[in-house]
Amino acid sequence: GKPVCECNACFTGLDCSQSVPGCILDADSGNPIYLEPYWMQHAASTAIVLSGWHRMGYEYDDGSLISKELHSEIFKLHDIVKNVNTTGRYLIFGAGSTQLLGAAVHSLSLESSQPAKVVASVPYYPVYKSQTELLDSTMYKFMGDTSLQNKSDSSTNFIEFVTSPNNPDGQLKKAVLEGSNKIHDLAYYWPHYSPIVAPVDEDIAIFTLSKLTGHAGSRFGWALIKDKAVYERMVKYMDLNTYGVARETQLRALKLLQHVVQGRGNDLFEFGYGTMKRRWELLSKTLEASQRFSVQHLSSQYCTFLDSYRTPSPAFAWIKCEQEDDEECSKVVLGEAKVIGRAGSLFGAGNGYVRISLTDSQDHFNNLLNRMKKLVSQERTQS
Ligand code: PMP
Repeated sequence: GKPVCECNACFTGLDCSQSVPGCILDADSGNPIYLEPYWMQHAASTAIVLSGWHRMGYEYDDGSLISKELHSEIFKLHDIVKNVNTTGRYLIFGAGSTQLLGAAVHSLSLESSQPAKVVASVPYYPVYKSQTELLDSTMYKFMGDTSLQNKSDSSTNFIEFVTSPNNPDGQLKKAVLEGSNKIHDLAYYWPHYSPIVAPVDEDIAIFTLSKLTGHAGSRFGWALIKDKAVYERMVKYMDLNTYGVARETQLRALKLLQHVVQGRGNDLFEFGYGTMKRRWELLSKTLEASQRFSVQHLSSQYCTFLDSYRTPSPAFAWIKCEQEDDEECSKVVLGEAKVIGRAGSLFGAGNGYVRISLTDSQDHFNNLLNRMKKLVSQERTQS
């Protein structure tokens, strides 16, 4: 039988597949539950067992905090997908990529004795701002959009976050500020969400298991770093912050990545891309009929991994309210479709936008699509 799950507010029944009519559908979080059925199909071969006495010590037998096998599996996977240049790179692990974002900002801020300005291009992933502000360091401040900065200011240590494909809008992005220290957040640079156009060849490239295999709860991310001094300062940050990533987590990541590497990624990427592509086709087509709402335009591009042109398959819909002048777009969508999205203002983009997640379970997506269809059809009956 199917496992009993904890249902959210919109679902009920043993397997959480029965809709609760009129409920508020939460599409705020980028929880990657759409990959659950994939792992159900590979349940036995990707299971791990840990006895009580296993992996108790702080370090591995060689004194390191990083599993050698996992290190090697990550390099093998990048060699297969060709999404990043791994030559001569140092590898560091984090509790999700979230921890690595902070470690990278810390390390790069020490490149100069003057406080660094942390920036990103609007719309940007909200954690860059909230984490930088939370840490409230004298060594760096979040300064918002790259377009607000003086580009010829060579005396400032700019730390620029580049998210490609971008969260929320799925666009492939390049750094904007010349001479800035850059942190490339490549959470979504996998065939599920994006064409692989070329291997990224940058100083700091950050990835996460959360979006690759969908195991967000394992809290595992990694960064590939070109410069030894930058790497060593990140290692020091990790040592003092959490003293590395749980060995249980590393074991789980190893088992999952061994599976992906063994199949040369094909099964997982086929499932991931197939699902996200279908969802995008359905949602973008629905919103095409609307005068009130629009979504980001994404074009088909050649993917070196698939060796073909591929249609878009983003993780999020970045919806714009075309007509509401005063009311927040997120409030319009919540009020009329009973869908919780993430407000555009959190991404530095203002009230006219809302982000809707497309990565939840199939039932969740079907429910979301029905509500968006209804929202658009109401528009037609009103006009
Ligand atoms: N970067 C981006 C662009 C993300 O969307 C996310 C997750 N939503 C993260 C980083 C952090 O993910 P995690 O800490 O689970 O690795």
